[in-house]
Amino acid sequence: MDFEFTEEQREFQKHISRYVDERVIPVAESLDDTEDFPRDIVKELGGLGYLGIKYPQEYGGSGLDNPNVFHCIFCEELARGSLGVASVLGMHTSTATHTVYEWGTEALRQEYLVPALAGDKIAAFGLTEPGAGSDAAAIRTRAVRTSGGWRLNGTKIFISNGTVADFVTIAAKTDPEKGVHGISLFLVDTRTPGFSVGRRLEKFSNKCSDTAELVLEDVEVGEDRLLGEENKGFTNVYLSLAIDRVMTAALALGVSRAAYQAALRYSKEREQFGRPIGKFQAVEFRLVDMLAKLKTAELHTYYAAWAADHGKNPVADAAMAKLVASEAASDICRMAVSIFGGYGLMKEFAVQRYLRDSFFPLVAGGTNDIMKLVIARQSGL
Ligand SMILES: Cc1cc2nc3c(=O)[nH]c(=O)nc-3n(C[C@H](O)[C@H](O)[C@H](O)COP(=O)(O)OP(=O)(O)OC[C@H]3O[C@@H](n4cnc5c(N)ncnc54)[C@H](O)[C@@H]3O)c2cc1C
Repeated sequence: MDFEFTEEQREFQKHISRYVDERVIPVAESLDDTEDFPRDIVKELGGLGYLGIKYPQEYGGSGLDNPNVFHCIFCEELARGSLGVASVLGMHTSTATHTVYEWGTEALRQEYLVPALAGDKIAAFGLTEPGAGSDAAAIRTRAVRTSGGWRLNGTKIFISNGTVADFVTIAAKTDPEKGVHGISLFLVDTRTPGFSVGRRLEKFSNKCSDTAELVLEDVEVGEDRLLGEENKGFTNVYLSLAIDRVMTAALALGVSRAAYQAALRYSKEREQFGRPIGKFQAVEFRLVDMLAKLKTAELHTYYAAWAADHGKNPVADAAMAKLVASEAASDICRMAVSIFGGYGLMKEFAVQRYLRDSFFPLVAGGTNDIMKLVIARQSGL
């Protein structure tokens, strides 16, 4: 058993951590205010080679044997600076590009994956619909065969990176009678006629990550845009979506760490009754509770990433990591705000942003009720 990062992982963490301190934290508040998509950061991280952690070198990736632990470090560090920035990149670097890598033709990989890993194209993944969230089998977007390929019609909602995406993997029904076994995946270039952004959705949380409603009206795509086998889309992508939950856990971990560190610093600086508030046992105990939750979340998250890297079935561990880490983030960020007293509600302190952002991992990748269902099924309950 080894609970330490390797030398290579420590070095990686040091570099991305420095990047976050220098380039993300200074702009995190203004990105939250303006809700601007962090395009410069995406481009810069592409140039630095961070977007291809999960992919082979031939496509501009890192060619790592154990990419999930590295990807977790990357997402955790980014979320320590801005959960909005981290979730943009988390989605971009995982399922939204994985579908092209895994099931795209070589030409599609060159056209979409390579520029995406360089930070020149933005990727999105569209499964959720107004009437189908937890119940993915209920999607109504329809793809029907045409002479040269497929015609897609439908509406997607809550799609991360949706208004800025250059390409979106769209889940659509190809056999409506068959539930999840009648879903296929299609790569849609967002310049295709009939594709449009319905609206950019306004949120109180995770504000600089773009979230959109997407509309497909008679979108015609070629045969080559079917990713993977017809009707196998959902079953194929299920594992990738399951592994993405480790990434969501890492996002939760990053914002938790930021909140804990901010609260710890403040507890040493703020004095009441002639002493730092951290000297009051009530505050000290709250910090200990936060630290214990942080440690628990960290163990679950990195264990799940390690399990995925070691070829173990990651589905239950990833769901558990997401459940534990997102609930921990919610508690830790709330406790951090309470340690700041009235100042915790003020814009000048980042803890209010951490608390708002901590709602995102509770829902992303499936709600925690759904995580419990997944764990129950996987554990034979
Ligand atoms: C900011 C943001 C970004 C997102 N990004 C993407 C994206 O990029 N691509 C994408 O496809 N989707 C995305 N989503 C969608 C996300 O995956 C869904 O919001 C999530 O799966 C829940 O679906 P829903 O919102 O429709 O809630 P619902 O499914 O309507 O759930 C409502 C409530 O009912 C509970 N519930 C539902 N079914 C059950 C059940 N069987 N047992 C117990 N409780 C149940 C839920 O836990 C929840 O509390 C995003 C969502 C958000 C908020």
